Amino acid sequence: MALWLLGTSGAVPDSQRDYVALVVEHAGRLILIEAGGSPLHRLSRMGLDPARLEGVFLSHRHPDHLSALPVLLMGLWLQRRAHPLWIAGPEDAVERAQALLELFEWRSWSGMFPVNWRPIPLEHGAVVEESEGIRLMAAPVSHSVPTLALRIELPEGVAVYSADTAPCLEMIRLARGADVLIHEATGAYPGHSPPEGAGWVAQEAGVRRLILVHVPPEVDPWEWKARAQEAFVGPVEVGWDGMRVM
Ligand SMILES: [Zn+2]
Repeated sequence: MALWLLGTSGAVPDSQRDYVALVVEHAGRLILIEAGGSPLHRLSRMGLDPARLEGVFLSHRHPDHLSALPVLLMGLWLQRRAHPLWIAGPEDAVERAQALLELFEWRSWSGMFPVNWRPIPLEHGAVVEESEGIRLMAAPVSHSVPTLALRIELPEGVAVYSADTAPCLEMIRLARGADVLIHEATGAYPGHSPPEGAGWVAQEAGVRRLILVHVPPEVDPWEWKARAQEAFVGPVEVGWDGMRVM
């Protein structure tokens, strides 16, 4: 079982960072969290076989988090996938994803594998996935559109991913006591967090370590880390594409 950062950029990727995304491995299967950029390329680069994907979680409907879904599904279809894939997220993100696929007439793709849609209620502790050795729970956070953060519970430990959000009490509640908090640090914009804000959430939630993601391209990682450390006494890292978290 493992958890990696596939991408760590904000809404604008650069030469070092692709759109924010994570991948969880458990019992030989993979769960992709967010679908921006080029997930098949990135999974392959990391030596992770996309045929092992069992599900995709979309935190919200913004294009940097779900626009790659059509090429992801097309690629899996071309690889002759037969087993179902679940796709979860807030209801309006699921609807947006479905509309995007309709645009590409995916229902006419001959022999397309089944997709199980899982609209997740905007409620604290909503279960996204639960099977032996893994539990994924969501909670609504503070962004410009309905957005779900995700708590990932594995036998190795607990990781929490903030998605896009301003520092908020819901995030503290979801992250309570986690081994690692993967929190966005876009900067001081509405619906986003400056690094000090991510540090504050980490401190209040009592997590053991903090990893900053959704980092804008012009940022000096040392400055971002130092600013988060103003509010959080534990270890802080600026995430990088391909980083193993657990
Ligand atoms: Zn967003």
